[in-house]
Amino acid sequence: MLETIKTLEAKARELEPGADDRKYLRNAVVDYSESFLEGLYARPAYTTHPEKAAGLLASPITEEPAEMQELIELIRTQVDDPGLCAAHRGHLGYIPGGGLYASALGDFLADIGNRYSGVFFAGPGAVRMENSMVRWLADLVGYPAQAAGTLLSGGSLANLTAIVAARDAMGIRSRDVERSAIYLTGQVHHCVHKAIRIAGLADAQIRTVRMDAHFRMDAHDLERKIKADKAAGIKPWLVVASAGTTDTGSVDPAEAIADLCEEHGIWFHVDAAYGGFFLLTDEGKKMLKGLDRSDSIVMDPHKGLFLPYGTGAVIVKNGEHLFQSHYYRAAYMQDAYAENEEMSPADLSPELTRHFRGLRMWMPLKLHGVAPFRAALQEKLLLARWFWEQLAGMPGWEVGPEPDLSVVLYRYVPRHGDANDFNLELVHRIHADGEVFLSSTTGAGVVYLRLAVLSFRTHLDTIQQAIEKLQHYAAQIEAEGGW
Ligand SMILES: *Cc1c(COP(=O)(O)O)cnc(C)c1O
Repeated sequence: MLETIKTLEAKARELEPGADDRKYLRNAVVDYSESFLEGLYARPAYTTHPEKAAGLLASPITEEPAEMQELIELIRTQVDDPGLCAAHRGHLGYIPGGGLYASALGDFLADIGNRYSGVFFAGPGAVRMENSMVRWLADLVGYPAQAAGTLLSGGSLANLTAIVAARDAMGIRSRDVERSAIYLTGQVHHCVHKAIRIAGLADAQIRTVRMDAHFRMDAHDLERKIKADKAAGIKPWLVVASAGTTDTGSVDPAEAIADLCEEHGIWFHVDAAYGGFFLLTDEGKKMLKGLDRSDSIVMDPHKGLFLPYGTGAVIVKNGEHLFQSHYYRAAYMQDAYAENEEMSPADLSPELTRHFRGLRMWMPLKLHGVAPFRAALQEKLLLARWFWEQLAGMPGWEVGPEPDLSVVLYRYVPRHGDANDFNLELVHRIHADGEVFLSSTTGAGVVYLRLAVLSFRTHLDTIQQAIEKLQHYAAQIEAEGGW
């Protein structure tokens, strides 16, 4: 047996490269990351790839080792080249963010140390760091000391976790679901509908509240619907507001909604996955007034704090509710439960073992300080406003409402032909061009193009470039006789 163990050990030791090997591997990775970053200003934001990365399929996992250079080549050609380059300054579609370098360094160290961030007992420093990030967010929102929250993979998981806490805190059991009502608008992010289904609430009465011309929740309609439900013996228990919406960047009126929720004893949840970090700016603070009156909130650091993908925060004003829905006391972990100086992330979400996400958020905030984040977010608000003003003054273009935050809706209205087809062709040509990436959406049967400014790498020159591209391709399609 000892012979076998030693043979196995010799092979198993290949998993732990020595200092020289590490240096070689690390240099290869760092060299590639440098060429990626240096090339970022010369490459397109969007690249159509005929094979759609099928080259990866030709390189399956085998028993044999491969060379690092070969892997880097696969990453470059199959992963980093095709499709949307989310690190690009020209990413102006969906909701961008960028991916801060300092976060990557934080992730590197989090992975090397592999600190356990699920429970305080095992990783007191990791948990304290992560909780301090949640506390920083809670302060930004204006939540009191008893707030609790955790960093999850993104806004979708964060919304689900908040809705589960709300469900339990409001005492909604299976038998109550059908006679309970949830209020949201047609602009709520689709992950909220997913969360409602996953949380066992699909049979609840889902009320779609009307919106005003700015796509904001109409508080009067909300009030009417709440009263009608109460009169019919249905229990209103949850309002989900957006700050702002993904599609249009609109901010629902938090103060008016909070008044109604207080009056009728309803849980007020705010999905601020996209817009929450504009609280760092004076203008954003005005626009987002009243968020401190919500019962729970979601904010995505991988959007407004420019982190690489993989971090969304949920915070509940009365942290006890988040805890009651998610804690568990397993016998095999009894040693871990004695120390309760800090809340443990494992007691605040469905996760147990998890990525140590605190470090990827802490590192950039400490390294840069908060000031450049404030400046960048203020800059994005102004860039969106500037784009909206430019287009409003350009012949042929029609703009949506003045942006609440940093998403702009607009379209070209051609002299002849169908405007929807024209704008779909326009966005298609922008994608084929690839220098900047814009996306489209449809509201009430009308196709709009969207501009979403939130990458830390996007500055004035990129917005000017987007305007030039739009003008160029609109003129080109017009010259072809419309679409
Ligand atoms: C992005 C977004 C989500 C979903 O968050 P993920 O991080 O993509 O899971 C939810 N709500 C809003 C308003 C968003 O913008």
